[in-house]
Amino acid sequence: MNAAYLKDAESLVLKLMAIPGVSGRENKVMEYIAGQLHKAGAPKNAVQFDNVHRRGRKGDRSNLPERPGGCCAQIGPVPFSPGGEVGNLVLRLPGTLPGKRRLLMAHVDTVPICEGTRPVRRGRYIVPADKNTGLGADNRAGTAVVLSAALEILRRGLPRPPLTFLWTVQEEIGLRGSRFGRLGLLGNPRLAFNYDGGPASKLTVAATGGYRMDIRVIGRASHAGVSPELGVSAITIASLAIAQLHREGWHGRIEKGNRTGTSNVGVIHGGQATNVVTEEVLLRAEARSHNSTFRRRIIRAIEQAFQKAARSVRNVEGLRGEVQIDGRLDYESFRLRDDEPCVLAAEEAVSECGGTPVRAVSNGGLDANWMTVRGIPTVTLGCGQENVHTTSERLYLDEFRRACRIALRLATGSE
Ligand SMILES: [Zn+2]
Repeated sequence: MNAAYLKDAESLVLKLMAIPGVSGRENKVMEYIAGQLHKAGAPKNAVQFDNVHRRGRKGDRSNLPERPGGCCAQIGPVPFSPGGEVGNLVLRLPGTLPGKRRLLMAHVDTVPICEGTRPVRRGRYIVPADKNTGLGADNRAGTAVVLSAALEILRRGLPRPPLTFLWTVQEEIGLRGSRFGRLGLLGNPRLAFNYDGGPASKLTVAATGGYRMDIRVIGRASHAGVSPELGVSAITIASLAIAQLHREGWHGRIEKGNRTGTSNVGVIHGGQATNVVTEEVLLRAEARSHNSTFRRRIIRAIEQAFQKAARSVRNVEGLRGEVQIDGRLDYESFRLRDDEPCVLAAEEAVSECGGTPVRAVSNGGLDANWMTVRGIPTVTLGCGQENVHTTSERLYLDEFRRACRIALRLATGSE
């Protein structure tokens, strides 16, 4: 490994961050990656796209972005969305050493706050030139780490075990690339390494599972001054439900015995005028727990609170409102075995590059959730991204360089 490798990686990450490509619009960045791979000598048939963006299913709404600002127009039947410009990109190389196939991967999409970013180097960091945008180090830094390793191996013909490189789309809007991608293209990897946020020595070995709910509360409209007693207020029903969840410890951080999780009613929208008893309120909520049984318990508590609240509010004629709840699993939780080969290999590589490996548990979802649940145990490593999803996002270059060295070791190591 030489200084030129790290220098090239640094200019690569600057170029990658400057390419627009929020979730679903990753075509330009994928074209750039594929172009670099071909230029470095990747055989044409070794580079493939899986068209995951065309594989969304009717009724599956996990591809729809959470709208900032909490507009609820999406609640209710949503037509099938073709979902994005491009699919996941795969590079598969035969090994020159015996050993199990290894996979290095990273998602390439960025969050909307990174649109228009102009990355610049400032001291030991790369930062956005404009203080109103994010940087996109999440996850163009991961993209660059994985691409740098692939290019170095292609250019120098480095000895390696069988290798697969994977760049995924639409991670930020429901881990869609890893959830629906064609794993058949990957060639059955046995050790998998995902590059995403955090320091280079952090190994994420477990992550929570998340569930999202759309809740529609339907009351009865009536003139609030003339005949309020004929109305059933959807706002009253929603308030009672949320109050009960709060009172009974099912909202926010949840601890029941030794089981833990979180929930949040994050969006509430309804009502048009003070002189009308509110007919409809739309809410969006989520529940998370590492324990899928307990996560279902949280979901049930939310459903029960709304149903109970709907039963308890009646108008003068004894009529009630109703609640319709539509939920879906965003991502399933996972925990890698303590002796999982990818974890042990990652720890060794981190140590060899002068770091102290730290095993971590994530309370957010990662591509590794779906990879692991779908049969490819995947450890996630950081590469120096800090303050992601904010305008103070930056990339710490010391950690980024270390991640590049670790990744190249992982890609060229064999057992
Ligand atoms: Zn990310």
